[in-house]
Amino acid sequence: MSNVQDESDLLDDVTRDLDGVEAALHRLDAGTYGRCEACGVAIEPRDLQGDPLVGLCIDHR
Ligand SMILES: [Zn+2]
Repeated sequence: MSNVQDESDLLDDVTRDLDGVEAALHRLDAGTYGRCEACGVAIEPRDLQGDPLVGLCIDHR
């Protein structure tokens, strides 16, 4: 009987993903996509492949 809770959790995940996509698009616009938001260092390409929305380098995650 916890389907409503599950769907609510799913919606939370989708909302978080959308926030991540929006943030990544902003970084693309600003020309900072692929760079750490905290220190500006280039994020490893394999990290971006694993999670294209990642916004922090390995040290700041
Ligand atoms: Zn960093």
